Amino acid sequence: MASVARSLTTCIFCKIVKGEIPSFKLVETDLSYSFLDIGPLSRGHALIIPKDHAAKLHELPNEYLADAMPIAKKIAAAQGLENYNILQNNGRIAHQEVDHVHFHVIPKPSASDDEGLVVGWPAKPADKEDLKALQQELASKLSKL
Ligand code: 5GP
Ligand code: ZN
Repeated sequence: MASVARSLTTCIFCKIVKGEIPSFKLVETDLSYSFLDIGPLSRGHALIIPKDHAAKLHELPNEYLADAMPIAKKIAAAQGLENYNILQNNGRIAHQEVDHVHFHVIPKPSASDDEGLVVGWPAKPADKEDLKALQQELASKLSKL
């Protein structure tokens, strides 16, 4: 059962869902709305948003999450994408500009940094003892959530 959808009068994505701001709509369900990004990283860059105002992923009821990913698959399939990124940012320093949960579908048509997502990946070797302690802490907390 879907929760009662919240919306914010000031949120641009809530306004897009309500049709108060125009958008290039792709697919709509009872729980989700998808449309082309107005500032695409590549041609076909799309956004999927829940029809519920939650700023960050952990604030969003699960049924909206379950509805969104099949739409991402459809948008990738409709474009015949083989290379693409699904991106979802939470918080300003994690590159979230619009405080309404959204999933990006970003085609990566070539290896060029000029189109599609460009990812920094500052991986470092992990300390095994630290990994073990962290795993124990998180596994314990996760079993209670
Ligand atoms: P974020 O950085 O928050 O993960 O991504 C926000 C995305 O929303 C950006 O890619 C930006 O281009 C897109 N966006 C912002 N405002 C609008 C709008 O009014 N219409 C559409 N279609 N996309 C928008
Ligand atoms: Zn909103």
